[in-house]
Amino acid sequence: MKDYSESDKKIILRDYRGLLRASKKFRTKPEDTAFIRKAFNFSVEAHMSMRRKSGEPYITHPIAVARICTEEIGLGATSIVCALLHDTVEDTDTTLEDIERLFGKKVKRIIDGLTKISGAIDFTTSDQAENFRKMILTLPDDVRVIFIKLADRLHNMRTLGAMRKDKQLKIAAETLFLYAPLAHRLGLNALKTELEDLSLKFKEPEMYAEITGKLKKSQEIRTRFIAQFISPLKRELAKTGLDFTIKGRPKSVYSIYNKITQKKVAFEEIYDLFAVRIILNSSSETEKTDCWRAYSIITDFYQPNPDRLRDWITNPRSNGYESLHTTVMSPTGKWVEVQIRSERMDEIAEKGMAAHWKYKDNKKKNENKFDDWINKIRDLVQNNETDTLDFIDDFKLNLYAKEIYIFTPTGELKTMPKDTTALDFAFDIHGDIGRKCIGAKVNHKLVPLNHPLSSGDQVEIITSNKQKPKEAWLDFVVTSKARSNIKQSLKEEVKQIADQGKESLKRKLKSLKVDYNDKNLRELLKLYDFKNPLDLNFQIANGKIDLSKIKNIVEKGGELKFEKNKPIKRVRIFTEEKEIISSFGVKSSEAIILGDDSLKQVDYKIAQCCSPIPGDDVFGFLTINEGIKIHRTNCPNAVQLMSNYAYRVLKAKWKSQTLREFSVGVEFTGIDGMGILHSLTNLVTGSLNINIKSLNIGSEAGFFNGKLNAFIHDTKHLDDLMKEMKKIEGIKTVERIY
Ligand code: MN
Repeated sequence: MKDYSESDKKIILRDYRGLLRASKKFRTKPEDTAFIRKAFNFSVEAHMSMRRKSGEPYITHPIAVARICTEEIGLGATSIVCALLHDTVEDTDTTLEDIERLFGKKVKRIIDGLTKISGAIDFTTSDQAENFRKMILTLPDDVRVIFIKLADRLHNMRTLGAMRKDKQLKIAAETLFLYAPLAHRLGLNALKTELEDLSLKFKEPEMYAEITGKLKKSQEIRTRFIAQFISPLKRELAKTGLDFTIKGRPKSVYSIYNKITQKKVAFEEIYDLFAVRIILNSSSETEKTDCWRAYSIITDFYQPNPDRLRDWITNPRSNGYESLHTTVMSPTGKWVEVQIRSERMDEIAEKGMAAHWKYKDNKKKNENKFDDWINKIRDLVQNNETDTLDFIDDFKLNLYAKEIYIFTPTGELKTMPKDTTALDFAFDIHGDIGRKCIGAKVNHKLVPLNHPLSSGDQVEIITSNKQKPKEAWLDFVVTSKARSNIKQSLKEEVKQIADQGKESLKRKLKSLKVDYNDKNLRELLKLYDFKNPLDLNFQIANGKIDLSKIKNIVEKGGELKFEKNKPIKRVRIFTEEKEIISSFGVKSSEAIILGDDSLKQVDYKIAQCCSPIPGDDVFGFLTINEGIKIHRTNCPNAVQLMSNYAYRVLKAKWKSQTLREFSVGVEFTGIDGMGILHSLTNLVTGSLNINIKSLNIGSEAGFFNGKLNAFIHDTKHLDDLMKEMKKIEGIKTVERIY
């Protein structure tokens, strides 16, 4: 410390004392304090000559990160030490060997992990998907690496104001894309919320200012409302002898922003700006009973909405979250969400699993859930040889999925993401069962593979040895386990087919008296413009390759030599806009014209996720394996694609008139389904003269729910169809589905 100026010393010591205060309960032995002191001294010297953008001595950053680790994530001495050292190997001449010698193997391993992530996350590339993947790859080693990385990011976000504007935007976008979902999945709720709010502050400063301003203005009304709402509850709860605190918490700025932009409602119309939280000071033996006692008192006063009761105490969410939620009607006619939980549950809800490790009693129940999740990730990382974009899509499915509960035939309970299909469930039980699945019985009724499951369903899987995974399955499965398993099987099948192609190729070469060897194979890859022999052989087996071209490049001595011949045009991955332009014959400023195959200048496919039709606003997206795909601009995947892969986005528009027909799905519901099938087919195929691709109707207790897939020209045509459908007696809702 001796080389620091007096004013710097003052700042550093102030921060360090703050860290010691915040970590008091984790420093149970004198050795812990000594260990932290040693790391602090080391880091102070190592970062001696460095300053932050804000002008403060650099060491204030590692101290702040360490403090977040202990105070906001609930981590202990080892993590504090690692956080203090987290930038030493990367930014100073400290080596990993130094760290190991001074602080031991465990600390070295974590610092190594942290340094690797920083190396992996390269701020100069826009390929966030790849960054994310690398980060996830370190997850199985030591979760603390991710925790410390998140603390690092949080402090950087808190101090982002000192950075240049373009860097601010980039870091904010990355935080929203990578770190906030990860924090969510690790159960670090408070951290996730702050990361989201801070990102918004830099990405959309005006919206942020507007929402925070309005929140402040409405604060008083809210406080009064909450006071009125909880006053009878307080009285009654106190009578029962329960020890509790009640908080009225406003929703986060980011979640309000999402509601306003996605649901297009005004701030004033958002009724659920806050939730009421009742936190009980109960022992772990009585906490569950106490929560239900509190529930019973609340619902004596206010009418609950039975659809909104969530019991995450009996079945915690897989990120460890435990709480009892109910939504009740207040005297003013507003729905209010009430969250009931014990202090222990509240700490987990805010700080995540790390906080949980302190509570030994319940350790087992939740640690298993957490381990399950880590194991799922490990499976995914290890089995996934597909490209990064697919990986990230698959992975994000798991990060944000809401959960439902499914029972096996023997009554065992399984947690699955929302929108899970029967096939996903089959894959969750075992890969072999998934691959051989031909259908399922849901609550003893036979259903197809793509049948969506609901909470409480009892599901029995039906298999057949003749079944094989199909590519179409990828269109409806939602879990990453099923996806990666299906892709893996399909890949093996491709390999088998490619082997047949290889045999044809060998025969062809033999007839030309050319050897099948590595050198000649390289020339063939050049000739047909393939990256690897597998793709080439696969296309040969499919009859897509004109083998007669080979004779043009035969040289003396049976050697192949490819030079001036132009390669056959194929889709490749491009990172440069220029390459896209030349290879596809489109200028990026020009739109691709869609709709008429005779005018097709470029090859494209209609995206399955949103099935655009003429009249929809669309864009083209250059995929890795399947060329250009056309999405609707309001496709659920569009934001992610456009924000992360802007260079792969191409303008597209529909030709004004087209003869082509597109398959569109429409979902409808209603009551009293007698004769509905008859009136519907009459209308569609009869008076409207539209071809039906498929039509399913299911009914239960007088309600029916159906899906119609029909061939449609454009949005106007679709609107007409939907308008006519609504006129049918019994039909209540008609909606286009993605
Ligand atoms: Mn750092």
